[in-house]
Amino acid sequence: MGISLALTHNPAPAATAEFELVERVDYGVAVNAPTSILRFRPLQDYRNLWQVLFFRNRPHLPSFEAGDLFGVAPSGDNTARLNSLASSASDGQLEICVRKQTNGLCSGYLHSLKPGDRITGFIQQNPGFRPAGGATPIILVGAGTGIGPLAGFIRKNTDLNPMYLYWGGRNSQSDFLYQPELGGYLDDHRLTGLNTAFSRSAEKTYVQDAIMADETVLRQLIEKGAQVMVCGGRDMASGVSQVFNSILKPSHMDVDELRAEGRYLEDVY
Ligand SMILES: Cc1cc2nc3c(=O)[nH]c(=O)nc-3n(C[C@H](O)[C@H](O)[C@H](O)COP(=O)(O)OP(=O)(O)OC[C@H]3O[C@@H](n4cnc5c(N)ncnc54)[C@H](O)[C@@H]3O)c2cc1C
Repeated sequence: MGISLALTHNPAPAATAEFELVERVDYGVAVNAPTSILRFRPLQDYRNLWQVLFFRNRPHLPSFEAGDLFGVAPSGDNTARLNSLASSASDGQLEICVRKQTNGLCSGYLHSLKPGDRITGFIQQNPGFRPAGGATPIILVGAGTGIGPLAGFIRKNTDLNPMYLYWGGRNSQSDFLYQPELGGYLDDHRLTGLNTAFSRSAEKTYVQDAIMADETVLRQLIEKGAQVMVCGGRDMASGVSQVFNSILKPSHMDVDELRAEGRYLEDVY
């Protein structure tokens, strides 16, 4: 009809909920990378009437999986920052792993919280970052806080499917995030293999080096159908994809091909 229409999409604001910090575990101060694992409990009850009647113990969390995102706006700023969830609702807690950025408003706010403090936030689903499930081997790769959702996937791996973690930090004495939990997951076989790299230690290696050191094993796993999941900073993710491209060359495969098959997933920021 010759009438031009201007369409504006105004997404509905995400539903927020209130949470109370129940525990924090602090790492990395000595290597100038203060990072905390923060565990919250919900203050509202998300159960329907049936669930309330039959499960009277405690409020349940809204539905979410590890790898989904938790949005929080710091006080005095309306822009929410996203943090990757390191737990799923069935774990009974909402867990995030946050690095305090220099002059960072939201990360500074989250790091200032003490047990008992309350915050408001929302869940944003991230269905594109989920492990394949079944017996597919999963190669998890991350650096720094990127370990958060990866630790959540391992915790959930009670079927003991093959899961291998490659992770990089600064110094094993200071910022080896989730070290006690990962030891337990190796013992009970939720985690099949753990390879770490520390950039501010005698070895001075990065996660890319740990991946390269295992190139034959990793190529064989990918040839057999393994999925790769990468989480953390953009520079790390770019270096990791280059390493995988060089590892895959002898098999005439590359990262783009794996991406197209849903076998190379990234959650980078
Ligand atoms: C999908 C997604 C998932 C994320 N998951 C996590 C997570 O699990 N854990 C986590 O700690 N963060 C995560 N982030 C980053 C997080 O959302 C914030 O960007 C970060 O915490 C900084 O916010 P801020 O308010 O503290 O900093 P701002 O107040 O926004 O910025 C303050 C200063 O910090 C600098 N800065 C901000 N971010 C960075 C950075 N990453 N590296 C270096 N300098 C920076 C800015 O340049 C600026 O100078 C994620 C981001 C996205 C998009």
